[in-house]
Amino acid sequence: MAKVVAVLYDDPETGFPPKYARDSIPEIKVYSDGQTAPTPKAIDFTPGEMLGSVSGELGLRKYLEGLGHQLVVTSSKDGPESELEKHLADAEIVISQPFWPAYLTAERIAKAPKLKLALTAGIGSDHVDLQAAMERNVTVAEVTFCNSISVAEHVVMMILGLVRNYIPAHDIVRAGGWNIADAVKQSYDLEGMHVGTVAAGRIGLAVLRRLAPFDVKLHYTDRHRLPEAVEKELNLTWHATREDMYPHCDVVTLNCPLNPETEHMINDETLKLFRRGAYIVNTARGKLCDRDAIVRATESGQLAGYAGDVWFPQPAPNDHPWRTMPNEGMTPHMSGTSLSAQARYAAGTREILECYFEGRPIRDEYLIVQDGALAGVGAHSYSKGNATGGSEEAAKYKKDKAA
Ligand code: NDP
Repeated sequence: MAKVVAVLYDDPETGFPPKYARDSIPEIKVYSDGQTAPTPKAIDFTPGEMLGSVSGELGLRKYLEGLGHQLVVTSSKDGPESELEKHLADAEIVISQPFWPAYLTAERIAKAPKLKLALTAGIGSDHVDLQAAMERNVTVAEVTFCNSISVAEHVVMMILGLVRNYIPAHDIVRAGGWNIADAVKQSYDLEGMHVGTVAAGRIGLAVLRRLAPFDVKLHYTDRHRLPEAVEKELNLTWHATREDMYPHCDVVTLNCPLNPETEHMINDETLKLFRRGAYIVNTARGKLCDRDAIVRATESGQLAGYAGDVWFPQPAPNDHPWRTMPNEGMTPHMSGTSLSAQARYAAGTREILECYFEGRPIRDEYLIVQDGALAGVGAHSYSKGNATGGSEEAAKYKKDKAA
């Protein structure tokens, strides 16, 4: 019997909808690159319902208990008194979502002698100390592509929101006002602007494709160039380094993984390379940016706006300055966990568990670490090392202080 610990975010404080807003979600069977969506043998949930919060249990209880395994579901993940810490001693599998990451630091991995699988129900396994996972022979897997388009849609929304000044204009309406000059004093058209992405992987390329019809000039930087046909189709300008790209862009969106090489890549020095009044949209990982350098740049006007849904740590402390800095368009980490995305990553989690328990190979596109080394998609996109430093700060968040 295996103990499976699933760390999920809290249920809605405002209650579950008595009826969901929509009766169904579109079924996506194949992604744009030809990869098939998750193919578990069965699912025990209704697609379109809340699966990512504690009560939803990712739809796993019936399946796991049916096999005689124990499923523990908790949102308590930070600090030595957390439920997660209590279960580390005998957990074989820890499941976590990047939105509410169960930080698996080297210290925690050392406290989990039976841990064999760290499963990310989503994309991005930087909350796991990959170096420690390799040394301890823990398999790390994630559900590649499950929410890439969800995030790309959020990026496009945030770019338009910042450039057109949507949130402040909406605030005027909510407050009963009508001053059009206030609404437009920082409102521009995206048309004709130069937009660049750091990384053109699944999300970055999807953002480029979605922005092309806006008649913008598109730029990208990536370790590997896209096929020439794609560059031509989207009229892309490639830059060898991100520092080469920044001076050309009015908008920069970050879509690369967090690893020791990309941590704090946006800092006081690199921000000087940006055009004055540029916008940054970061839905990749909070730690790609130096927190205080972003605050300074929004205050000085070097950045006209910063938006994203990723913070460090998560949950962000109540007094995190990105909550209140000027011209921010932040959301809690939500882009990859729409109800639509949840159905796909819950199915992908089930598929990975079925493979694990039946001794079948986990798809290469889901593997990050296996047999003590980076593997599958992880060998392509990840770097060795650890990016979890400072995660203990997540324990500072206090629910009762939330607005
Ligand atoms: P992919 O693996 O498809 O793409 C990542 C891209 O980053 C690859 O093209 C890779 O290049 C490139 N890359 C890696 N390192 C660097 C670097 N140092 N400089 C420039 N490019 C680099 O992943 P996705 O597009 O699906 O996801 C990207 C990231 O987005 C995830 O790692 C995760 O952190 C975040 N994410 C956020 C979500 C949210 O809810 N906000 C949800 C899902 C993901 P190459 O392949 O050429 O080596």
